[in-house]
Amino acid sequence: MMAEVNLAIIGAGPAGMAAATAAAEAGLSVTLLDEQSRVGGQVYRDIERATGKRAEILGQDYLAGRVLAEKLSEPETSYVPNATVWQAAQDGMLSYSTDGVAKQITADRVLIATGALERPVPLPGWTLPGVMMAGAGQILLKQSGVLAKRAVIAGAGPLIYLIAAQMVRAGTPPLAIVETQTWADFIQAQKHLAGGFRGWRYLSKGLGLIAELRRAGVKRYQAASNLSVEGGAHAEAVVVDHRGRAVRIGCDTVFLHMGVVPNTQLSRAMNLDHEWYQTQHCFRPITDEWGRSSAERVFIAGDGAGIFGAKSAEIVGHIASLKIAVDLDRINAAEFERRVRPLIHASARERAIRPFLDVAYPPSKEIMSPEDATIVCRCEEVTAGDIRKYASMGCEGPNQTKAFGRPGMGPCQGRYCGLTVSMILAEENHRTMNETGYYRIRPPIKPLTLGELAQLDETGGDGEEGMDLG
Ligand SMILES: Cc1cc2nc3c(=O)[nH]c(=O)nc-3n(C[C@H](O)[C@H](O)[C@H](O)COP(=O)(O)OP(=O)(O)OC[C@H]3O[C@@H](n4cnc5c(N)ncnc54)[C@H](O)[C@@H]3O)c2cc1C
Repeated sequence: MMAEVNLAIIGAGPAGMAAATAAAEAGLSVTLLDEQSRVGGQVYRDIERATGKRAEILGQDYLAGRVLAEKLSEPETSYVPNATVWQAAQDGMLSYSTDGVAKQITADRVLIATGALERPVPLPGWTLPGVMMAGAGQILLKQSGVLAKRAVIAGAGPLIYLIAAQMVRAGTPPLAIVETQTWADFIQAQKHLAGGFRGWRYLSKGLGLIAELRRAGVKRYQAASNLSVEGGAHAEAVVVDHRGRAVRIGCDTVFLHMGVVPNTQLSRAMNLDHEWYQTQHCFRPITDEWGRSSAERVFIAGDGAGIFGAKSAEIVGHIASLKIAVDLDRINAAEFERRVRPLIHASARERAIRPFLDVAYPPSKEIMSPEDATIVCRCEEVTAGDIRKYASMGCEGPNQTKAFGRPGMGPCQGRYCGLTVSMILAEENHRTMNETGYYRIRPPIKPLTLGELAQLDETGGDGEEGMDLG
């Protein structure tokens, strides 16, 4: 099969943008696909249009993404917006839909740069209208300038402070921040303080954000437990145990957040090898130091291979492109060594803070093992108790649960329940996460109409080749 491009990149966040620019500079033909209408990814979402007040609210770190977006407008890179990749094969064939039309493209190498997803936060009341993930609330701000009034932010992780500070700057401060990380977590994290000091810029930014929140009078409930959301037709209050007593905080909107996890939908659908990464309580695809996955032609860069942040994503995207340029004889081994060494040092520097943050801000035990009545699979309304019942009936792995009660078979294809289902099964069956495994993800990984599928023949693709609808 003669490939149409040297490199197809999925995802135009920092990893994908940096990789596209570096690959084009090395003389590769590049196609960059992203389901959003503009480049930027999660962190720099809509960066090209952010001006005035919105730019001021989102801050300097966000505006740094402009440089990446500007460099991208080189003629060697073909950028396809609104392109949702719903199938990818190890031989380099990708299927995607754009504006309701399905297409295929073949590439010598594929780089998956699909970033992270917010960790699901299954707790009582999380399915009520008015409850959303904090990152989703931030997307409303970045993309539409919309902000919630009378909101409470609850969970754990540094992103909470950033989003709260952005709300303060926008004139709609959160009513309160409820934090579930404990003092014991913080003490545990001290053993990674050396890395914390190497990443002092991040520490000082975090402390700056907390000071900004204090000045704005935002109330913080730290080391809170038994987090739940109360309401009838709509969220009405966040309820927590704090310092030995139950606290009820009335609100209209609840932003939940317990960190982000690699988006492995495509890497799973491609049958690449994955492993459980205990430090970050998530699965991640196995890659070598250059980002090559268990398949020769497929690379993964950025948060999709483990959560290390936007700057690190940019650097590892660059590194993967250099390695691909060696693979395809655009640069030689000596040139590669010369160019990659400083990037490796920069990447280590950017990642140094991460072990400290991972231990200081873990997801709460309550969401990793939710109480029986809590809905875990939102699409099919399957509860944690249902999953435990399946385990007691001999169900050993997440794929089997589908036969019992359809979790993971709704429109989100397991994105919001996969981790929790695996965690509950591992706990109930006394097995490790690697032994328990994850859902087998089948293409199409996103909803696709029959009409789109039928068009593949008309648009030049071959509806049969490389297509496994399992
Ligand atoms: C909701 C959310 C908000 C965040 N906000 C911040 C923040 O404000 N500051 C911060 O420092 N970090 C933030 N993070 C963390 C941040 O996303 C990462 O550190 C950084 O963006 C990782 O860069 P990346 O290039 O790996 O992926 P991303 O920036 O996430 O880019 C991935 C891109 O892949 C695209 N994509 C995914 N799947 C497909 C598909 N099947 N087909 C086509 N395109 C696809 C997405 O549309 C996205 O544009 C946020 C994370 C999330 C999930």
